[in-house]
Amino acid sequence: MNSVIAKHSQLLSTSLRGDFPILSETVHNGHPLAFLDNAASTQRPACVIDTISGVYERDYANVHRGIHTLSERSTELYERARESVRNFLNAKNVSECIFTQGTTASINTVARSWGDANLAAGDEILLTVMEHHSNLVPWQQLAERSGAVLKHIPLTDDGRLDMSSLDTLLSERTKLVAIVSVSNTLGTINPVKEIIEKAHAVGALVLVDAAQSVPHMPIDVQELDCDFLAFSGHKMCGPSGVGALYGKEALLEAMPPFLGGGSMINEVRLDSFTPAELPAKFEAGTPPIVPAIAMKAAIDYLTHIGLEKIHAHEQVLITEAYNRLQEVDGLTILGPGPSHRAGLVSFSFEKIHAHEFAQILNDSFGVAVRAGHHCTQPLHALLGITASTRASFYLYNTPEEVDRLVEGVHAVQKKFAPQGRKRKPRK
Ligand code: PMP
Repeated sequence: MNSVIAKHSQLLSTSLRGDFPILSETVHNGHPLAFLDNAASTQRPACVIDTISGVYERDYANVHRGIHTLSERSTELYERARESVRNFLNAKNVSECIFTQGTTASINTVARSWGDANLAAGDEILLTVMEHHSNLVPWQQLAERSGAVLKHIPLTDDGRLDMSSLDTLLSERTKLVAIVSVSNTLGTINPVKEIIEKAHAVGALVLVDAAQSVPHMPIDVQELDCDFLAFSGHKMCGPSGVGALYGKEALLEAMPPFLGGGSMINEVRLDSFTPAELPAKFEAGTPPIVPAIAMKAAIDYLTHIGLEKIHAHEQVLITEAYNRLQEVDGLTILGPGPSHRAGLVSFSFEKIHAHEFAQILNDSFGVAVRAGHHCTQPLHALLGITASTRASFYLYNTPEEVDRLVEGVHAVQKKFAPQGRKRKPRK
């Protein structure tokens, strides 16, 4: 693997591992931890952890409502966090950046608010078959309420979106296209910009589920021209319980608030209310104050390193992992080759259940991977499996950890299927 390090100047310095206290943990049987479960949730650098305790130690009070010093401080920090989300996404205005609980809450907000106000029976929502449950169920619920019809972009044989179907699937009946930008199971990087252009050409809006892309590559909402975009803080070195919904200002202005309660109002009478201005209109109740402030620390950390560099680093790791896992007899890798793939790889193996596979990787190699359907049950059903094992990389993962993953997979293969069969590599 030293040759991999030598070959690739894109690899980030391993010194940044020292920023993440948990990465020096040993796990089962004293193995050093190789944390390859980043698509589920990442780890946090000390600067994020220190921000959390620092706010609680020095600055914490509820935001917006107080006129005392601590409330002013926490409000300022909270609103600075919003500005950092705006800057990170290159949104035009802070009023377009709503703090939510995460990707799921962001998508549900659009389904409930925009969806209920705008969709009627016969209108169509176009999704893809590779969506996470978070970008399927809210639209299924909306379809039940409104009578709207769900359609799905199918896959090519190598796990990319079948773009040739788009012209038939899109029509003047399509009111919304909701697509994942990077599949959390296949790793596929989808041609989101092209889909947005085609959707806009028929008058449809586009929501991008960016849970797996915003943490790993530069995303510019103005350049993409998406109408809504959702992501989560915990997948980008920030805390859980916070994320954001980006929406174009004119759309958010026209949308009725979804959750009702404190903060989202301008005036309340006994029998009616007037909603607050953006972004408060969509932030009912006490928001995730400290998580939002700590998400800014995560954004600052990632921005300081550079999203291009993070992406390039992951590309080196995934290319190496993919190419070597392709060599393992009997292993089926889900999704396309490295040139269309982000930094994660899911695989299945006939002879052993994904859970057992993950257990061995953890117990014998200290490699933390995820096993199951990864909240993409329909996709797994389409692929004829119920579960897969997924390794997902982030900026702090190293070539040595790829080695350990591959070594572990080979060991499992030898134990359970000494005579498997090989698959043809994909580009
Ligand atoms: N979409 C995708 C593609 C995801 O990977 C995830 C998280 N696994 C989600 C949505 C949901 O994110 P959260 O649980 O943070 O709301």
